Amino acid sequence: MIKISNVHKTFGTNHVLRGVNLEVRQGEVVVILGPSGSGKSTLLRCINYLEAFDQGQVLIEGKPVGKMIMNDQLKEIPQKELNALRQEVGMVFQSFNLFPHKSVLQNITMAPETLRGMSKEDARKLASDLLRKVGLEEKADSRPSSLSGGQKQRVAIARALAMKPKVMLFDEPTSALDPEKVGEVLQVMRNLAVEGMTMVVVTHEMSFAQEVADRVVIMDEGIIIEEGPPGKIFKEPTQARTKLFLSQIL
Ligand code: ADP
Ligand code: MG
Repeated sequence: MIKISNVHKTFGTNHVLRGVNLEVRQGEVVVILGPSGSGKSTLLRCINYLEAFDQGQVLIEGKPVGKMIMNDQLKEIPQKELNALRQEVGMVFQSFNLFPHKSVLQNITMAPETLRGMSKEDARKLASDLLRKVGLEEKADSRPSSLSGGQKQRVAIARALAMKPKVMLFDEPTSALDPEKVGEVLQVMRNLAVEGMTMVVVTHEMSFAQEVADRVVIMDEGIIIEEGPPGKIFKEPTQARTKLFLSQIL
């Protein structure tokens, strides 16, 4: 579903991604762990080309994202193709980024109506179904400001799902939440995983990684230093830096 090959990214003189290789199969849940500043968010943003990488290639279902290699040179793909690809990839951030002046329902119907040309009626139906799925049916007409952090994040997930993405990317989706609201968001993500959604999740929630991830990937200083099933990575990490990192968060 996703193939990341030798991706490099530099901000000024800061070489943030130093040749990342990662493949994610359809229906797989991959959790990315690693110290702050190791490049996790940058890598996620490269997957839908919110961040332009300098070298390497990202393919989604075999289609190049942002840049493609042609005659040994990296060329930008046409904007129209990039937009189409981005619609296949849902993203959920730490900060929910809901539109404050729209209702919860409108937050969800907007993209399918404007980008997918869905009728108002179909979009409403879809939004209601998604709100039911995240347990917020009764909040359809509320403003985001009246919701708790956990509720906002569940709306943000419903909004991303409204585009019927093939892949969902989550960047520390529970980091900004009060501890008692974390569980409700993780539960929605767990349900998505069970339904077979392909997911790449940056999180420090070890119980989620342990229970839901098919594979855990450890990043450090812009590369993947270790990967494997959670049971193996947490019990028998092979890299000293993985051991150090895990000892600090467990
Ligand atoms: P992580 O998510 O693992 O904490 P990030 O991908 O956010 O790491 O950041 C990796 C490095 O890239 C950090 O040194 C950060 O300061 C730098 N960085 C990230 N985004 C930008 C940006 N837009 N401009 C400049 N530097 C950035
Ligand atoms: Mg980050």
